[in-house]
Amino acid sequence: MSDEKFDIPEELSSATLPTLLTAESKIRFRCHKGISCFNECCRHADITLAPYDVLRLQRRLGMSSEEFLKKHTVPFQLERDGVPGIKLRTDEDGACLFLDGDKGCGVYEDRPTVCRYYPVGLLSMREKGASKAEQKYSLVVEEHCKGHDEDRELTVAEYREEQGVEDYDEMNREWYELILKKRSGGPGVGRPNEMSLQLFFMASFNFDMFRKFVLSDNFKRTYDLPQQTYDELEQNEEALIKFGYRLMRQVLFGEMTIPEQKDAWDRRVKERKAIWEARTRAEIEARNAKAEQAMREETLGEDACDTGSCGDRD
Ligand code: SF4
Ligand code: SF4
Repeated sequence: MSDEKFDIPEELSSATLPTLLTAESKIRFRCHKGISCFNECCRHADITLAPYDVLRLQRRLGMSSEEFLKKHTVPFQLERDGVPGIKLRTDEDGACLFLDGDKGCGVYEDRPTVCRYYPVGLLSMREKGASKAEQKYSLVVEEHCKGHDEDRELTVAEYREEQGVEDYDEMNREWYELILKKRSGGPGVGRPNEMSLQLFFMASFNFDMFRKFVLSDNFKRTYDLPQQTYDELEQNEEALIKFGYRLMRQVLFGEMTIPEQKDAWDRRVKERKAIWEARTRAEIEARNAKAEQAMREETLGEDACDTGSCGDRD
């Protein structure tokens, strides 16, 4: 099963794109247990995960985000600027770990978006000059997949409904837009700093850590939000994910939708200054210690020669 999820071109160009489908386009496809290639796609699984995929799977497995990430995912670079992504872990032969023998997918009701859409590829696109991204589709035809030979025709919209992708798209849409914006932002949107990348990873996938972060005193000293919002973020994971998108837009692109405390800027400048001064002090101390050590070794070397233990003497 190949992953076309994040093929998100900046502008429409028929020379570089697969044939685009809309919700009304018809496809011929059927996948069922009796088909000769049953499970074949899951034996070559290359599944990129989006935030809501992680939430559904970790809930199903009763795991913390940390546990889920460690056990079931591998990191990869989603974007050339180091934007981090994750894929489902597979065994050495490339088979998905959730494949349950001949029974098929062991997490079927909570399978990720890419698995639901396959063989339809989801493309989030924005035409030049447009402010909003548009959802388009493509059809992935792979040799091993015999579902294309089946005698059933349906529209992409009908296929989406059958596969239950609506909730997934609703929850992930803003995240795709974030990536699209990062990708097509041009030189004005440069490489995010290390802290922004860490925030991106935490808010996108490690929800337990992100929850702790937004409920911390430090966060509350920086952002001016009502207690009601904090209560919701504590109890409602969907709300937490969507708040993460807002925070990422604010940090990565300066779209200010979360009010900051009045003194937040001054405090940040002071903290940065303190960090910078501490770093400079540490560097000076390390340099002095090195110079002292070198002097000591030099002096010891001369003393050793003076007392007759220098090896080069005749
Ligand atoms: S999650 Fe399920 S459908 Fe997706 S690759 Fe794994 S076994 Fe197949
Ligand atoms: S028809 Fe395609 S999607 Fe269905 S099991 Fe076969 S390879 Fe997988």
